[in-house]
Amino acid sequence: MKIEVLREDITTLDVDAIVNAANKTLRGGGGVDGAIHRAGGKEILEECKKIGGCETGEAVITTAGKMPAHHVIHTVGPVWNGGENNEDELLQNCYKNSLQVAVEHDLKTIAFPNISTGVYGFPKERAARVAVETVEQKFGYKPSIEKVFFICFDMENYDLYEGMIKE
Ligand code: ADP
Repeated sequence: MKIEVLREDITTLDVDAIVNAANKTLRGGGGVDGAIHRAGGKEILEECKKIGGCETGEAVITTAGKMPAHHVIHTVGPVWNGGENNEDELLQNCYKNSLQVAVEHDLKTIAFPNISTGVYGFPKERAARVAVETVEQKFGYKPSIEKVFFICFDMENYDLYEGMIKE
């Protein structure tokens, strides 16, 4: 099992699944969600409409359309609301449930964006710690997953993740 930190546009990656920081409607939006729907094309939205929606912390899977990845796992991160409203646990659930969906579909490589750290306002360092700890803990139980990528779009996140992975 391997963890790798990359500074990339997640839509360009050739992995079994890229994870989308979606919203509850699954109808697309800004940030990474918009980039994924634009790059993947309308097939993704069509599948999302059939699924209907997704609760915070849950995860669902669709095609990746025209992107090099094979699937998109859509998960809905928590909106930051001061930190005393279950934000950490909900963010943990995003990582756990995305890994669970990957295992159920026999996927070996999965790439996560920095869920909730854009418009949803989760403090970056706290979110990075939740992400790294959750994935590392889960790995023991998910031996079928070979590689997890943390995709950092901004330098601040990249430096945070690099530091934590080295620890
Ligand atoms: P959220 O609503 O969950 O906060 P955002 O899309 O606003 O989602 O931001 C989540 C993270 O995704 C941010 O760190 C942002 O910099 C990053 N991001 C935006 N576009 C891309 C992309 N094309 N590839 C990877 N990460 C991206």
